[in-house]
Amino acid sequence: MLAGIVKTVDPFVPLPTYDRGNRLLDALDSVERDAIVSHVFVIELASGAVTHEYGVDDTWVYFPMDCVLSVVATLEDGQGCEVGTIGNEGASGIPIALGARVLRTTICQVAGRSGRIAIGAFGELFERFSLFRAIVFASEDARSFFVEQLVVCNTIHTIEKRCARWLLSLADRKESDTYELTHEYLSFMLGVRRPSVTLAERRLRELGAITYRYGIIRIVDRALLESLACECYRTAAENFRRSIDASRENHDTLVRPYPLRSSRNET
Ligand SMILES: [Zn+2]
Repeated sequence: MLAGIVKTVDPFVPLPTYDRGNRLLDALDSVERDAIVSHVFVIELASGAVTHEYGVDDTWVYFPMDCVLSVVATLEDGQGCEVGTIGNEGASGIPIALGARVLRTTICQVAGRSGRIAIGAFGELFERFSLFRAIVFASEDARSFFVEQLVVCNTIHTIEKRCARWLLSLADRKESDTYELTHEYLSFMLGVRRPSVTLAERRLRELGAITYRYGIIRIVDRALLESLACECYRTAAENFRRSIDASRENHDTLVRPYPLRSSRNET
C-alpha cells in the first residue's frame, strides 16, 4: 500500500520568517512567541518528502502550517499504512528532541509549508519557557488521545463516516474547503482498499456534501458533511481545543518547572 507514495526528495526551500499558521506556536503569549519564533525556519515540503526516517538520527522538530504529515508503520514485508496524522494542530519530532529514538518514518502527504526548529534549540526553549512546555505536553496528549480514538473509529465506524471525518479534518489543517487529494492517499490514510474509498467518496458527492473533479476536493456543504461524519471529528477537535486552553490557563500552577540539564545529574 505504501509503494509509490514515499519518494526520496529534498524539496527544502527557505521561505520568509514565520508569521502564523501552526496552532501550537500561535497559542503562545507574546513574550514566549517572540523568543521561540526567532528559532523557527519556514520551509516548503513537497508531497513525499521524508521528515523523519526510522533509525536515522534527525535534527529538526516540525511545526506544520498548511502541510499534512503522516506517521507510517511498516511491516517486515514492506507493507505499511498511516498510523498518525500531524497537521497545523501539532508538531512532529518532539519525543526525538527530548532524547527518544526515531521509531517511525514520517512523510509529507499533503504539500505545504512547515516551520521547523533545530533539536538543540528546541531543548533549550522547552526548558526555558513554561507555556511552550505546557502546550507541547498538551499537544502530545491530544495526539495520543486521537490515536486511541482511531482504534475505536476504525473498528466501529463505517468507511463513509470515516471518510467524511478525514475530509473535514484535512480542510481544517489546510484552512481551506478546497484542496488536492487523490483516492490513493485517501485509501492509504483510511487503511482501506481504493474501491471502498471510491464508493464512500461517490456517496458523499451524491448527497451534495462535496464535489470531486480532477483530484480536487471541494466541501460545498460543511454542515451536511459534519452531519455525515462520525463523532470522532468533533471529539478530537474539542479535545485538542480543551487541551490547549487548559495548558494556557493552568501552566503556571499545573506544570512544574522542568529540570535544567545542569541539575539533572545532581543527586
Ligand atoms: Zn469515528
